[in-house]
Amino acid sequence: MDLEKTLLRKVGEAIQRFKMIREGDRVAVGVSGGKDSVTLLEVLLLLAKRAPIEFSVCAFTVEQGKFLAPIEPLGEYLRARGIAWTYFRDEPSLRLLEEQPGHGCDLCSRYRRRAVYEIARELGVNVIAFGHTADDFCEALLRNTMFTGKLSALPPVTVSRKGDYRLIRPLVYVTEELTSAYAGSLGIPVVPCGCSQKTGTVRRALRDLFGELERAHPHLKENILAAMGNVDTQRLLDPRFLNSEEKPTAEPFPIW
Ligand code: SF4
Repeated sequence: MDLEKTLLRKVGEAIQRFKMIREGDRVAVGVSGGKDSVTLLEVLLLLAKRAPIEFSVCAFTVEQGKFLAPIEPLGEYLRARGIAWTYFRDEPSLRLLEEQPGHGCDLCSRYRRRAVYEIARELGVNVIAFGHTADDFCEALLRNTMFTGKLSALPPVTVSRKGDYRLIRPLVYVTEELTSAYAGSLGIPVVPCGCSQKTGTVRRALRDLFGELERAHPHLKENILAAMGNVDTQRLLDPRFLNSEEKPTAEPFPIW
């Protein structure tokens, strides 16, 4: 398989379908140090050269104190490729890690989000691209369904709360099998994050479940992704989307 061609096709499909990138956009890719975000960066740089529209691409990394190895080799790799890369030590996140070492993902993500908007403002970009993959979308769907009582995954495209930035996830159709192979083929010095190695988490359990099921059903994730784009609202239980002669109601059924 030609990895680059496959990636360009899948990312191009996502960008086009969800109108992620438009003429004149200035896109900043959040590089987490892992294979996914660096793959995304490389693919967007290739697309910026080939696409019929003009857009620019730069990269940034937020240091929250969770990398297991120095980030410098990755920085050197990016600089050697002539990529505009900003490394941002987020002091509030580092303090949080010292003061509340056991903090959860909610707090960590909130700190990261604030830092990301701060960097985006400094860089003068209008689009922020994240490296969430098809695996992340599938896991999010299952996690939300099973643990939050909501049928939802992740938004492929959305805007920041104040409307300043378009937030995009162009790897929605790209599996981690593909990003691993691509990052490996380019010799990208991946820097692992401590959290990615955590065991006993819901995320890890879902990953293991997918791994096991995929041995017998190799197209499982493709099917789940297709299902997310092909919702049959008549076979779900949300009265807002049901067609019937009498509008159904969310009110509880009266007990006589
Ligand atoms: S997995 Fe780790 S880095 Fe990611 S949001 Fe949770 S605490 Fe933060």
